[in-house]
Formats: sequence, structure tokens, C-alpha cells
Amino acid sequence: MSTSAPALSRASGTPAAQARACALPNLWLPYCQMQTAPLPPTVSHTQGTSLFLADGQELTDGVASWWTACHGYNHPHLQQALLAQAGRMPHVMFGGLVHEPARTLAARLADLLPGDLERVFFTDSGSVAMEVAAKIALQYHMNKARTGHDPQANQRRRLLSFRGGYHGDTMGMMAVCDPEEGMHALFGPALPSQILADLPTSPEKLAALESLLSTQGHEIAAMLVEPLVQGAGGMVFHPPEVLQTLRRLCDRHGILLVFDEIFTGFGRTGTLFACQQAGVVPDIMALSKALTGGMLPLAATVARREIFDAFLSEAPEAALMHGPTFMANPLACAVANASLDLFAREPRLEQVAAISKQLREELAPCRTLPGVRDVRVMGAIGVVELEKLDNVPELGRRFMQEGVWIRPFRNIVYLTPAFTITPEQLRKLTAGLYRVLKAELTQQPRPKQSPPGKTHSA
Ligand code: PLP
Repeated sequence: MSTSAPALSRASGTPAAQARACALPNLWLPYCQMQTAPLPPTVSHTQGTSLFLADGQELTDGVASWWTACHGYNHPHLQQALLAQAGRMPHVMFGGLVHEPARTLAARLADLLPGDLERVFFTDSGSVAMEVAAKIALQYHMNKARTGHDPQANQRRRLLSFRGGYHGDTMGMMAVCDPEEGMHALFGPALPSQILADLPTSPEKLAALESLLSTQGHEIAAMLVEPLVQGAGGMVFHPPEVLQTLRRLCDRHGILLVFDEIFTGFGRTGTLFACQQAGVVPDIMALSKALTGGMLPLAATVARREIFDAFLSEAPEAALMHGPTFMANPLACAVANASLDLFAREPRLEQVAAISKQLREELAPCRTLPGVRDVRVMGAIGVVELEKLDNVPELGRRFMQEGVWIRPFRNIVYLTPAFTITPEQLRKLTAGLYRVLKAELTQQPRPKQSPPGKTHSA
């Protein structure tokens, strides 16, 4: 990265802002106020559950790259699959052509998923997988109306989602994220108006949802929910019974149930898919993140047989009109197949159970710290929720001083490690988390050691 004079002269504001523009003259970082955020460290390479920084520091990774790297980094089986596929065919368009890695992956996903979730549409990011889920749901009802199967179905033009939910950053998905808590409050006036409800986690909330559905149920095409865990919305858990309730309500009101398993899919909550804990089969499911073991971008929207069948017709307009350029990229599909091999041959769910137990034991002491509101664990997700967190970037810097990569957001400090993490590495994460929080919350003197580099903003 050059530190050229023109970039420096373009920089304005504080000396810190100028220095940043000088160090990163061309990058625009995500979720980051680049005027004030500290300079993020440069990662030079990864291995197992470690990030190696350009300055030589090794960090044990508590985030698994936004919850994707479930087998750890650089897993040789994934690397071999990638290289072999790169030699054969790195990419080919999926319009009018198909290929073996995608066919195999679709068949394997259909085998693993419950019920008749069997039609797989590949895309390249979680947000787009959810966009496709929404489009499928809307068009399913249009097709039903067009064929006369359900003339009223044309009224179903809206989506219902839940407070605290997060489904992505695209325009359509911003409209179904929590408008208050989420990152998209700003865009509200520019977004289509959808319907927001509370998850039915109490009798009062259930009554409110039932009442809403009794008046507006006929307008709703689909209900979107992150099953068991609302991730980016604050790592909030709900019991499996809530999903059973949603299934029942959707069936009663003719609404399609969409599970966003982009975070929860592939073992993160303790079962391969979160929906299995509830014994509920959604009509449509979205997967991404750990689908390729975190190595390449890939996502899948999977529909039940009856949903797909509603698109079969002599009429061209009944077909699903969507097709991203890089959909079903063969490299990504080959790596995803290799990732499924690992789930089949290595004890991933047992590893998640062991991580869960260790997180429960080792995060428990955080409960005694002042300002800790809750400590909760589900599968390989450990969460410490604070009353408030004033200086998220500073906390991140202190985690790095402990040799751990933990990225708090809002009032949440969490661990979502790779499933292959060793007990010692996990202990390093939990101990580092505890020490930093204790110092922060009891205002103990900060460690003297100089920072290993600048830290990332939340
Ligand atoms: N849905 C959920 C539940 C997520 O956690 C995320 C990302 O964190 C998304 C959708 C969006 O996925 P992507 O960032 O790949 O677009």
C-alpha cells in the first residue's frame, strides 16, 4: 500500500485522520467511521485458529472470521479441493450450463437438510441468499394467484420479520432488519415498509403476534427469522418452542416460513442446523458463512418441494428471475463439498459440545463482574452482555494485548471460535476476555505493555 503524497494531501481533518488516509489511501472499510477509528492491523497469514499480523504478533481467533471458519484456517482438505478445482475449472457461468460440484453440493445439502428442503439456488453472499428467499416467497404467492389456485394470494406482498433480527445489508434486507437496534435505521425512509413484530417469547408477545396476523396475515408472503439465535442483533437466544409456534402460525395463516440459518447453520448452535432442535422444517432456508468452511463466498437458498413446484409452468413468467454472475462458482462449490466431507468424517458436533461446556464453565466468572447483565452460551457461541460498553475500539485494543482477536459490538462481547479450537486455545480466549473485562469494569490499571498495533473499530 503506497503512502503517496497525493493521498496525504487529500486527507482532511485531524492529524489522526490524515495519518489514516496516508496509511489506507484507497480502502473503504465496513461498519467503520474512518475519521475516528483506529487503524486496523494487517493480517499477513492465518493457520488453524490463529491470525498472524504483519508485525509478527499471533492472535488466537475468537470470531472465526465473522463465524465462517468452522474448521479453522487453511484446512488442508479444503485447500486440496480448491487447488484441484482451480486446475479443472475455476469458474463457468451457471446460466444454461451446470457442473458437477454444484450438482453434488445441492444433492448433499438436500440429504442433510430436514424434510423435503431439496431445491437449492446458489448465490454468493448471505444477504443475497435472503433476497432470493424473499423473492421466492413473493413469487410463490403470485404464481398461486396466477394459476387460480389461490386468487387471494396476490395480496401477499409484505414480509414479516422480528425485532432484533438481522438478515443482511442489501436494500431489501435492510427493510427487514430491526429498524431501531440494527444498523439500518438511517435508511428507513428509503426502504419498502415491511412488518415488524416481537418474537413470541412470552404469552403477551404471542397474543400480540396472533392479533397482528388476524388482521394482516393475508398481506404477508413470508415470515423471516434467525432460528434460535439473533446474531448481529445482539446474540439473543430464544427457545425452540418459539420456532414451533411460528410454524403453527404460518400454517394457520398461509404464510411461508423462512429460516435464516446463515449464522446458525453447520453446527454453530450444537446441531447441524438450528431448526433440528425445534423439529421444525421451514419452507425456505438460507445458508452461507460456514457453508464453505469460511474459505470462499457462497450461499444457498433451499426451498421445499411444494414451493419449487409452484414455479413449474408453461408460462415463462412463472420462473424464478434471478441469476448472479458468480452463482454456484465451482471453486466455492468444491470447497463446500470438502467442508461437508469434514463434517461427515470429523467429530464436529462433539467438538461443539465440548466447546459449549468449556465456555459455560470459563465464562461463568464474568457473571460476578459489575456491569455484566448476562452470560449465555449456546453451542459454540459464548456471550457476555454488558449494561453498556463505552469504548469498543479501546476494548478491542486491549484484547489484542492479550493475544486474542475478539470483536465486541454495542454492549456485547462474544466468542464464536472455530470448532477445531483446542481446549488450551479456548482457555486463552476466555481468560483474556475475563481479564480485559475485569480491568474495564472494575477500572483496574491498564496493562503497561505497549499496544501490538492499532485496533479495529466495532
Ligand atoms: N443473515 C444473518 C443471520 C447473518 O448473520 C448475516 C451476516 O452476518 C447475513 C444474513 C448477511 O450475510 P452476508 O454478510 O454474507 O451478506
